[in-house]
Amino acid sequence: MPVSRLISAMLNVKATVAENPVRIMGYVVARRQVDAQALLDSIQAYKHRHRISAPVLLVVHQDLFWNGNSFVFGLARETVGAGVVSTARLGNEYYGRQGSDDDYIDRIAKEGAHEIGHLLGLPHCSDRECVMFKPDTLDELDRKKKVLCPVCREQLDVILAKG
Ligand SMILES: [Zn+2]
Ligand SMILES: [Zn+2]
Repeated sequence: MPVSRLISAMLNVKATVAENPVRIMGYVVARRQVDAQALLDSIQAYKHRHRISAPVLLVVHQDLFWNGNSFVFGLARETVGAGVVSTARLGNEYYGRQGSDDDYIDRIAKEGAHEIGHLLGLPHCSDRECVMFKPDTLDELDRKKKVLCPVCREQLDVILAKG
């Protein structure tokens, strides 16, 4: 998967790809969206059952909502190392634009790296080009580079060095 390679490169951590073993819970018919919290519950239960301590990121095609947010690109639950990313709004087609695999892959990778960054202990960053900046729109996501700013990079290196 090119996405996992990009995420590994952005964060300088190892990543492996697996088929989703978790049942998609939390679908709300009236919204045609999935409650991101319910998915995180499922991942949390799965990790617990299989005694997985490493961060787990689930990538789904369903559109996600959470709390008062009409939608979220992704969500992380740091305390249990579980994260989820939705690809529903990451394709150009969703916005009536010409499709592009490169754009799509870049966006999934940036969102994935962002959520895994949280799982590893990074907070949001005010640098609009940093992976850890919180984007509210596709344009804000696209403005980000596929790299951590120097401050977040150093923070993550300290965290990783502690093991
Ligand atoms: Zn975030
Ligand atoms: Zn940063």
